[in-house]
Amino acid sequence: MNSAPRLRVTFLGTGTSAGIPVVGCECEICRSQDPRDKRLRPSVFLELEDGTRVLVDTTPDFRTQALANKIGGVDLILFTHYHADHIMGLDDVRPFNFRQKAVIPCLGDASTLAALRRVYSYAWDPSVPQGGGLPRLRLFEIRGPFSVGRVEVQPVPLLHGTHPILGFRLGAFAYLTDCSEIPDLSWPLLEGLDVLVLDALRHRPHSTHFTLAEAVETAERVDAGQTYFTHMCHDLPHEETCAGLPERMTLAHDGLVVEL
Ligand SMILES: [Zn+2]
Ligand SMILES: [Zn+2]
Ligand SMILES: [Zn+2]
Repeated sequence: MNSAPRLRVTFLGTGTSAGIPVVGCECEICRSQDPRDKRLRPSVFLELEDGTRVLVDTTPDFRTQALANKIGGVDLILFTHYHADHIMGLDDVRPFNFRQKAVIPCLGDASTLAALRRVYSYAWDPSVPQGGGLPRLRLFEIRGPFSVGRVEVQPVPLLHGTHPILGFRLGAFAYLTDCSEIPDLSWPLLEGLDVLVLDALRHRPHSTHFTLAEAVETAERVDAGQTYFTHMCHDLPHEETCAGLPERMTLAHDGLVVEL
């Protein structure tokens, strides 16, 4: 009997907020011919065993990402935080509203939901003429673990500089983008992982993101079966950087699919 994967993870984007190539930049990585050096804004698409399709963040590249990865539907959206590179593609879920004839639940912490209400105010404003072009969304605040079908989703509190944001754990998989510190309370939530995805911006220190060295140190402590780094800027060429990483660690790249 063929056993379906419990979780299929597609990396829709693995770049930092500007994306790679950076507009106007002539550096070696921005001119690289290696497709793994082309990085859209950071997001993953999760397909659960029961068929539920979970999108984590809606980047400004979401439309392009959905087309490139042939995404046929989205049942639920999880938001890590409200920065532009994580929310600005939300309006582009409208084709899924039409096709699925359903409202799409959007889950995030209180600060993220407040930002979504502000940025997409037209979607919740009954005075806006309903021309059929509005995204149909319902917001739910994440206050603790919750279930999607039979899968428990464990929010993992992270620090993105001083800003508390959320990572997510589903089974033996965790997605921790945009972080510079894992708070003490979150370490026990990261035990026994098969796959960890972790922020690794660049080599030079940054106030709100792990450097590659900090990310490697964090990944060593988490000790997942395999770690994939994400949210990279144009300082980290794919092939050369991967060659210097410890075993069981690699940079993710756009379009990469991992099955658990
Ligand atoms: Zn980001
Ligand atoms: Zn560049
Ligand atoms: Zn951010």
